[in-house]
Amino acid sequence: MGKVTVMEGTTKEPITLIGKMAGICYGSDVKDPLKNYKRGMGCIESNHGRTLEFPEVYLELSGYSARVIREYYTHIAGGPTRLQASTRYINYENGFDYITPPKIQNNEEALKVYDEMMKNIQVSLKKLEDLGIPKEDSAMGLPLGMTTVIVDKRGLRSLIEMSHQRLCTRAYWEFRNLMNDIMKALKEYSEEWAWLVDNLFMPKCEYLGRCPEKTSCGRYSN
Ligand SMILES: Cc1cc2nc3c(=O)[nH]c(=O)nc-3n(C[C@H](O)[C@H](O)[C@H](O)COP(=O)(O)OP(=O)(O)OC[C@H]3O[C@@H](n4cnc5c(N)ncnc54)[C@H](O)[C@@H]3O)c2cc1C
Repeated sequence: MGKVTVMEGTTKEPITLIGKMAGICYGSDVKDPLKNYKRGMGCIESNHGRTLEFPEVYLELSGYSARVIREYYTHIAGGPTRLQASTRYINYENGFDYITPPKIQNNEEALKVYDEMMKNIQVSLKKLEDLGIPKEDSAMGLPLGMTTVIVDKRGLRSLIEMSHQRLCTRAYWEFRNLMNDIMKALKEYSEEWAWLVDNLFMPKCEYLGRCPEKTSCGRYSN
């Protein structure tokens, strides 16, 4: 089970911050938080995209597969920064945790094959180690399904864009779960984040009013 932790450093009042930053450029009074909030809402409703880059989000994502994190890394707009657990220094001698997809979990025979595959990797890693192969080389055999940890910093705008792709019914199921976990964690972080998630985070079909995917799930026509 993956876990999303919203870390210290994340903007607590993102809408108010947007309004404050914009207010300075409008020559407005920015001492009143309520006025800042209202101005921030105005910027968002007017789709003044650049202002969405002021709020920052620091996340720890743990217990998701290296595979989904590889996809997470494709979301590069807005200059995010990230660190990922090393496969060089972490000791996998006692095995590694891995994600089991629901279709495998619910199929007794398939689950046996899958678990055996993971066990075999583990046995081979140990054999390589006994042969004096350093971890940084034997780690080549670690599966994409193994769980990992990353820390990530990115802006509100980047997360909105991510939601458009990753809430799509056709997106990889684990990323849909991860996206929903991020949204849940942000909603719990503050009321302003709850509003942003409820109103701006959505699959691209909802945002565009049509489905741009070649193979559509049928929710919106393309
Ligand atoms: C059904 C489905 C299947 C997918 N399958 C895969 C897969 O198999 N493998 C995989 O790797 N990914 C896959 N993806 C992810 C997708 O193809 C993108 O790689 C991913 O969403 C990140 O790219 P992005 O453009 O959305 O994000 P970002 O690069 O973060 O960009 C976000 C937005 O910023 C703007 N932007 C970005 N770069 C520029 C630029 N240079 N100039 C101007 N504006 C810019 C654009 O508006 C863009 O939409 C899939 C997505 C879906 C929905």
